[in-house]
Amino acid sequence: MHTKPSVYALTLAQWQTYCTQHGFKPFVGKQLYTWLYQRYAYLDQMHNLPKAFKERLADDFEVRPLEILERQQSTDKSVKYLFKTSDGHSFESVYMVMQEAQEGGTAEKITLCLSCQIGCKVGCVFCATARGGFVRNLDAGEIVEQVVALKRAHQLEPTKGINIVFMGMGEPLHNLTQVVRALEILSAHEGLNIAPRRITISTSGVVPALQTLGALNLGVQLAISLHAVNDTLRSKLMPINKRYNLETLINALKAYPLDTRKRVMFEYLMIRDLNDSLSHAKELLRLLNGLKAKINLIPYNSTPHSSFERPPLERVQDFANFLNQKGLLCTIRISKGQDIAAACGQLREKCLNDSKHL
Ligand code: SAH
Ligand code: SF4
Repeated sequence: MHTKPSVYALTLAQWQTYCTQHGFKPFVGKQLYTWLYQRYAYLDQMHNLPKAFKERLADDFEVRPLEILERQQSTDKSVKYLFKTSDGHSFESVYMVMQEAQEGGTAEKITLCLSCQIGCKVGCVFCATARGGFVRNLDAGEIVEQVVALKRAHQLEPTKGINIVFMGMGEPLHNLTQVVRALEILSAHEGLNIAPRRITISTSGVVPALQTLGALNLGVQLAISLHAVNDTLRSKLMPINKRYNLETLINALKAYPLDTRKRVMFEYLMIRDLNDSLSHAKELLRLLNGLKAKINLIPYNSTPHSSFERPPLERVQDFANFLNQKGLLCTIRISKGQDIAAACGQLREKCLNDSKHL
C-alpha cells in the first residue's frame, strides 16, 4: 500500500478543494487533472504548474509511477503487463484488442483488463491468482493508474473509447470501497471519461456486496463467474459457493436493479468432462430461467499445477449451439493472449516461480 495517497486517487472536486486549502487557485487542480488524464504525464513534465504546488504535491502524494516489470506481447496483439507497486508487490493488467459488433459489421475495440487485488481470498481451484494467496487490496489510485499506464504505453488518444473489465487479479466485491472510488474517477467527464456501461465488474458471487453494488446503481455491467450448474460441483471449484450457494446467488440477481436493456453476463469456464456436456447445458437453461442473461463460454486456459483440461472446440460449440437454439444468448470467448498465459495471475505466478522479481 502507498504510504501516501496516490496522485490518481482524487476526483477533480477533491483536487480543487486541496488547492484551495493549500493556497492555490482551484484552476491548478483542473490543470493537474488534464496532465494526469489527458496527457498521461509524469510530475516533472507538468511544466505549467506552479513549482510550489509540485513540491507540495510530491510531499503529500505518491507521484512515482507503477513500475513495469514484464511486458508480454501475444500474437493476437494482446499485451500483458506485470506491474510493481511502491511497496514491492506485483500484479497484472492486460491490454486487449477485441472485435466488437457494430452496425454493418465489427470494429476493433480496446479492452483493458484490470486487477483490483494482489492475490485473492476466494480460492477458486482453477485460478492462478488464488494460488499466490492473498496479499492485499489495491487502492483506488492503483486501480486507476493501470488505465493511465496502459493508455500511455499504447499511446491511445485521450478521446479514444475503451472498455474496462475487472477480470484481472482479485475479487472486486471484496474490495468494493476502492473499486467504487476508482469507478468514480474512471468515469469522470473531465478525466478519463469512460462511460459506466463500458465498464464490467466480474464477481464470483459475494452476495451481500452484490446487493450493496446494486443499490449504488452505478450503471456498470455485471458479470458473474458461474462455472457450474449444481452446488456440488460449484462448491468444489469455487469455495465461495459454500457460503452463497446457487439459489442464494440467483435470487440476489433476480433482485438486482438492471436497466431494461441490459442482461447479466454469466461466465462459464468449460472444463473437459467436468461441466461441458449437453446435460449441463440443459441444467444451465433451467437455472437461469426467468433472468435476463447471456452466457460467455470460456474454454479453460490450462495453468501449471492444474489437472484440468480444455474441452475440444466442437464440444464447446455444441454447448453454445444448444443454448442459442433454446433462446439463451451464448458466445464463446476465444481467450486473448493464449500464448502469453492470459488468465490473470499466470504471469505473476510464473515470475514468482522463476523468483525473477520478488
Ligand atoms: N474474481 C472475479 C474477477 C477476476 S477472475 C471473478 O472470479 O469473476 C476473471 C475471470 O477469469 C473469472 O471468470 C475467472 O473464473 C476466470 N478464470 C480464472 N482462471 C482461469 C483460467 N485458468 N482459464 C480461464 N479463465 C479463468
Ligand atoms: Fe479470485 Fe476470481 Fe480467481 Fe476465483 S477466479 S480465485 S474469485 S480471482
